[in-house]
Amino acid sequence: MKGRDPTVADWIAEGMATIALHCACGRYATVKLSDLQPTMRRSRLGRNARCAACGKQGAQVMRDMDAHYEAMAATGWSCEPKPRPSG
Ligand SMILES: [Zn+2]
Repeated sequence: MKGRDPTVADWIAEGMATIALHCACGRYATVKLSDLQPTMRRSRLGRNARCAACGKQGAQVMRDMDAHYEAMAATGWSCEPKPRPSG
């Protein structure tokens, strides 16, 4: 739902294991939800995050797309191209 501010516990309940933080400088990091406080809200997590590359405080919190694709592959939702036959 738009405008909702989910907590770490909400993400874990959705089956997510990691969350991605994205900085304006382009750095992208994934954080294990099990390492965070379950009551931490997305807005607070983003505000508290500090970039290890540029030192900027505040990051964009996004779903971890690598984990997302892994989950899709696990459920059969994979569209990887088949290797070309040689020759
Ligand atoms: Zn940065």
